[in-house]
Amino acid sequence: MSALPPPGSRPGIACGLCGGARRRVVLLACGYRLARCARCGLVYNLDFSPRDADYQTADYYTTAHPYVAFRSRFLPYFRRLVARIAAFRRGGRFLDIGAGTGLLLATARSFGYEPLGVEVSAWAARHAREVERVPIVQARLEAAGLAPESCDVVSFHHCLEHLPAPVEALASARRLLRPGGVLFVGVPNWDSLWRRIKGGAWATLQPTEHAWHFTRETLRHLGERAGFLAVDVRVENAADLLTGVKKGRLIALLQAWTGTGDNLAAIFRKPPGPAAEVGGEPGEGGRA
Ligand SMILES: [Zn+2]
Repeated sequence: MSALPPPGSRPGIACGLCGGARRRVVLLACGYRLARCARCGLVYNLDFSPRDADYQTADYYTTAHPYVAFRSRFLPYFRRLVARIAAFRRGGRFLDIGAGTGLLLATARSFGYEPLGVEVSAWAARHAREVERVPIVQARLEAAGLAPESCDVVSFHHCLEHLPAPVEALASARRLLRPGGVLFVGVPNWDSLWRRIKGGAWATLQPTEHAWHFTRETLRHLGERAGFLAVDVRVENAADLLTGVKKGRLIALLQAWTGTGDNLAAIFRKPPGPAAEVGGEPGEGGRA
């Protein structure tokens, strides 16, 4: 983690969903201001800077990364996730953007998909190739040279909240998907009960890395704004796996009962017909 900026020392960012600039700060996390957009409700990190997290440095991915250190714990979770995706699109090319160490792709292959990953970290890309035996393009998505309409599934598993332009990222995914293809997005859930209890200390906030904090509603609007049909946007509770935080069984049960788990796991579909132009003027499409 880099040195923390004093609040207000950054030029700041506008809402990544509707482009609006009016917002109200709702939480402080390690000196970073998290604000809610007055127009569309997206919560975002006012002090986010892509420079704070360099995923290409040698120490971001190592053998200590949870996907490597706790691989066997993640496998059942990834199997459930791929099974859910397969219910909407079975077989074909499965592109994972921000593929990390390749475990989701290795799982997709075991379900009969043809895996392909895009990953900026050289260490993670090498690990994915050599250990998980999955093909990886080590590049940013826009530089990966992938052909339009060449994928059946595109996934952003805990990646989208790191990207500076989320609508554009999903629009790129839409261009890569065949008509009727499926987009999966997994992100932290701002409406998590555990987030309400922990406030700015919620481990999943990761303010040096996470620019956007979604709810079911804002995630659905984001997908729709990028030209997708929302199929199944649901709350899950897999963040203990992702952060390694133990919070106790009672909290986890309460989260399950009240639908306030720590994660969102959303399935979208690319419309089967000709593509409409994405986005429109800022503010349009922010509310469905
Ligand atoms: Zn907004």
